Amino acid sequence: MYDIAIIGAGINGCSVAYEFTQAGKKVLLLDMQKIAGGGSGAAGAFISPKFSKAGELKELLHDAFEYSMQYYNKHFPHLIKNAPLLHIAQNEVDAKSLQIYKQKSTLELLTPSQNLLDTLTTEAQEKETVSINAGLVYAELLCQAMAKSADYKQHEVKNLFFQDDYWMIDEEYSAKEVVLATGAYEKLIKEPYIKLRGVWGHRIDVRTSTQNSHSLHQFVSISASDNGKIAIGATHDVNYHPQTSKQIYDIQKGRAELLEKALQTLKLDNITIEKDYMGLRSGSFDYMPLVGRLVMSQETLKNTAIRFKTKKPDFQAYDYYPNLTMINGSGGYGFVLAPYLAKNLREYILQGKVISDRISPARFFARYAKKL
Ligand SMILES: Cc1cc2nc3c(=O)[nH]c(=O)nc-3n(C[C@H](O)[C@H](O)[C@H](O)COP(=O)(O)OP(=O)(O)OC[C@H]3O[C@@H](n4cnc5c(N)ncnc54)[C@H](O)[C@@H]3O)c2cc1C
Repeated sequence: MYDIAIIGAGINGCSVAYEFTQAGKKVLLLDMQKIAGGGSGAAGAFISPKFSKAGELKELLHDAFEYSMQYYNKHFPHLIKNAPLLHIAQNEVDAKSLQIYKQKSTLELLTPSQNLLDTLTTEAQEKETVSINAGLVYAELLCQAMAKSADYKQHEVKNLFFQDDYWMIDEEYSAKEVVLATGAYEKLIKEPYIKLRGVWGHRIDVRTSTQNSHSLHQFVSISASDNGKIAIGATHDVNYHPQTSKQIYDIQKGRAELLEKALQTLKLDNITIEKDYMGLRSGSFDYMPLVGRLVMSQETLKNTAIRFKTKKPDFQAYDYYPNLTMINGSGGYGFVLAPYLAKNLREYILQGKVISDRISPARFFARYAKKL
């Protein structure tokens, strides 16, 4: 019997595994592919905030960015590459947002050197920019390092059953708590209010004679040089899905799009493509992640004491699955959010600390129930 079983070994599942093994718990980590076999293995994985004017996601990402930069540098210093980041506006609207961002930001703002600006294309040099200290993590190695003290098994979970205060997993494993960290790949609990969309992404590692000292973000993200290699990513392909698309994914088209976008920012010489990475990001419909316990919709809807058509739903009144939580919906920011969200989840499970309504999956149940 495990204290906790985590289903899905992407950055979310591995961050939760790390939190709980560090807390001395017996942790089972299951994945149907391998550690970082889903979206996490495809990621860049740039650690950056959201450079927008305002909004809930911007605020969450700001806190998560500060937290995760410190966290990775403290716990996994060999798996983060710290590099200044230059974010370049794509257009006029973007430029205005960046100006407001710079006025309000509490992060230390850097002044890009003339040498750096000279490496950019003429078009990019004319655009508004913001520069901060940021980083990039080695995605797969990081997930493996986080999972090291957990009991990892390759296993596709098909069935979860709760009895006598613990969860049975495919009649093979048992655990007091279960965390679903399944990304965009599978849905184990079929609740109608949980809707996630998988957005396909492609990124590449290229070898180039161009030396680049910064991470550059504009139409795509371009990493600083690392032993003659630069990572470029990622596309957002909403038309392709590995489980439902009839045609096969067009790698050449994805590569061409990435290079065409990167070359709008940086002059890259003597390029050869070394490796392609592809995967699904899992995003929610309000762009905020989903972290916390899950409402049992059928049982809750039967409760006549609850007012569902209200502007101020009372999440405490709902019925929840016992000892079952999820962590998902991180969109294109999984590596920025995961350590911060996993800490929230650990504090909720072990200490009962409340998770913010802004990220609770119950917000989607409230919207669903209101519409019925
Ligand atoms: C091309 C690309 C570039 C990206 N770049 C960045 C970036 O620069 N910075 C950043 O922060 N984020 C980036 N992201 C986003 C980031 O990768 C995701 O937000 C993150 O990987 C989500 O992690 P996850 O653990 O939720 O999901 P995943 O990594 O997809 O993990 C879910 C896992 O669950 C497993 N699973 C599902 N169902 C079952 C089951 N029934 N039984 C067992 N196992 C199961 C899957 O096999 C999978 O391994 C990028 C994503 C892509 C695709």
